[in-house]
Amino acid sequence: MINSFQAGDVLQLTMSINLRIEKVSRIYDVGGRKLTALHDVSLAATPGQVVALRGRSGSGKTTLLNCIGGLDRPSNGRIWLDQEEITGMSERRLVQLRRRRIGFVFQSHALLPTYSARENVDLMLRLVNMPRRERLARAAETLQLVGLGKWLDHRPFELSGGQQQRVAIARAIATHPAIILADEPTGELDSATGRQILQLFRQIADEQGATILIATHDPTVDAFADEVVQLVDGRIHL
Ligand code: ADP
Ligand code: MG
Repeated sequence: MINSFQAGDVLQLTMSINLRIEKVSRIYDVGGRKLTALHDVSLAATPGQVVALRGRSGSGKTTLLNCIGGLDRPSNGRIWLDQEEITGMSERRLVQLRRRRIGFVFQSHALLPTYSARENVDLMLRLVNMPRRERLARAAETLQLVGLGKWLDHRPFELSGGQQQRVAIARAIATHPAIILADEPTGELDSATGRQILQLFRQIADEQGATILIATHDPTVDAFADEVVQLVDGRIHL
């Protein structure tokens, strides 16, 4: 049988995902007092879309990303990635899903300081048991994609803030996740560097078909997003 698929094609096919969130609420119990961090939030995102989740500090952005990424569970409501409902999924399934289909980028990029850019990316590929040869190639290829082809062997302290955030993005996208969740990814960057990072997310959505959610209080994101969702006190502001 002729295998006409390259490994890359297959991974490319798995990139696309439809995200659907229906009436999600998250109620925290703070010392016996109920705090509603999210209230009946519904939204949808399709492959190749960049959705900006905007809102002030405390509006529920991180809580929502954590629920979508399976790091937290909603108190009510349902979340689907394509046909798979992640609300109600076992912890074991969620771990698999997180590793293979979801990429996280945080404000503080949390790179390992004694590891090179390539080694930081490689760690994620190890988690999905990619063979070593493939890992080396994939890490280099991904770092090239984010503009760090010449910095493969540099460690975080040898890189600028913007370059470090690019490594964090490379780490998040190296497994070709279908959905990328970025929490204040430009929070520690100057505005010009922040715009470059937002442009990079735009490019990843356009070229790889990933579904990208960016939580931020920064209005700069609007120009790079297909849709801007405003959260006010845990509710979507229409
Ligand atoms: P944002 O990311 O927009 O700043 P968060 O999702 O972090 O907002 O927080 C939304 C609300 O939920 C805030 O009032 C916050 O204090 C509260 N909150 C967040 N995480 C917790 C938690 N683990 N326990 C209790 N309250 C929390
Ligand atoms: Mg937050």
